Amino acid sequence: MTDHQSLIGAERRELVLRAAVRDGLLDPEDTPLAAFLDLNAVTETVAALHAAFPARLDVLHAFAAKANPLGPVLRRLRGLGMGCEVASPGEFAQALAAGFAPDRIVLDSPAKTRRELALALDLGVAVNLDNWQELARVDELLAGRPTTSRIGVRINPQVGGGSIAAMSTATATSKFGIPLADPGNADLLVDAFRTRPWLTWLHCHIGSQGVDLSRMAAGVGATVDFAERVNRELGRRQVTGIDLGGGLPVNFADDRITPGWDAYVEQLRHHAPALFGGDYRLVTEFGRSVLAKAGFLASRIEYTKTAGGRAIAVGHAGAQVATRTVFMPDSWPLRITAHSPSGAAKQGPLVPQDVAGPCCFAGDLVARARPLPLLEPGDLVCLLDTGAYYASHHFSYNSLPEPPVYGARTDSTGAVRFETLRPAQTVDDLVTRTLG
Ligand SMILES: *Cc1c(COP(=O)(O)O)cnc(C)c1O
Repeated sequence: MTDHQSLIGAERRELVLRAAVRDGLLDPEDTPLAAFLDLNAVTETVAALHAAFPARLDVLHAFAAKANPLGPVLRRLRGLGMGCEVASPGEFAQALAAGFAPDRIVLDSPAKTRRELALALDLGVAVNLDNWQELARVDELLAGRPTTSRIGVRINPQVGGGSIAAMSTATATSKFGIPLADPGNADLLVDAFRTRPWLTWLHCHIGSQGVDLSRMAAGVGATVDFAERVNRELGRRQVTGIDLGGGLPVNFADDRITPGWDAYVEQLRHHAPALFGGDYRLVTEFGRSVLAKAGFLASRIEYTKTAGGRAIAVGHAGAQVATRTVFMPDSWPLRITAHSPSGAAKQGPLVPQDVAGPCCFAGDLVARARPLPLLEPGDLVCLLDTGAYYASHHFSYNSLPEPPVYGARTDSTGAVRFETLRPAQTVDDLVTRTLG
């Protein structure tokens, strides 16, 4: 294993938090909740991703926009050399607006409309087709319309799921891709390639959080084996690229970045050696693993109380920004740190506390009976590892506004500067949108 220490440890987080308080970014009235992304950590993480694959291979690392589609985040990742994977008309438009060249965008929407497909083919955006009907639709669209798009088929290698059912995309009955082991499908797919010279890529995405590395790599291995079979049976190298998807899990338990990409690449070398022979161009689609550990949410504690002997701290981070954690607490637990109003780490004996959010339902808890120094009104709590799929995935329960998102850059002297990645949604914005 190649685990290494976190790029954003407790020390840098506290530095950022104190600077945020000093700069008025956690104003108790205006912005009692804000999200932060450590931009130094993002740069380091993307560099580690590029370094994990051999330089002689042609690899496009396409960031999965789903994980955090904010414009300044996408622009920054583009600047760091990444492409962009998109899965809806909205993400497609966000990627174009962020300045990604069309040939560095990969369109994976599960329910692409004709217009969405036509736009991708016109622009030369890479497209992965999900099913037989979509293949037939592209046959029609391509009649008399040349394209420079790289076109592939998503297959489901049916290697099984992981520990979170909703995140497991390679089960026997998954809704994604063409299930390769279903009777007749493999032969039909070889024929589909035979009659369509423009079909040149294979795509898989085995799952996200909860799927272990060897299962992910085995799924990629099955995909590469199928590419070799197509090329062998057709007697020509028609499949020229493999898109291995994303899904590297994130360690939510402590500050270590584990597994690292090196560990995954090692598994890929074992399960899919042909990827490294230089015969295929590669695309990856990592999302969570690029940003999760670089981000945290900070929330003011408004009130504290006890109920039935349980200490409860009521703050501003709840289901609106930590939806999965609130509704599926066992699958998506988050680390929480306690801080005094200045942002300094809070000291004191650990007391089991519920950390509650602002939503009007009893289950709106981001932690249950969590041992923390006893929280008081005005204190801050941080929800760690939330740079992907949290603040950027707002759930507008109780008309709670979208919190601001700030990028933090730390220079060599330890000075922190902030830039706004998304301004706070104001109550006026909210009212205007719902006026009718
Ligand atoms: C969600 C998704 C990704 C990104 O998954 P992460 O777990 O964030 O790395 C990549 N590709 C596809 C097709 C996806 O659906």
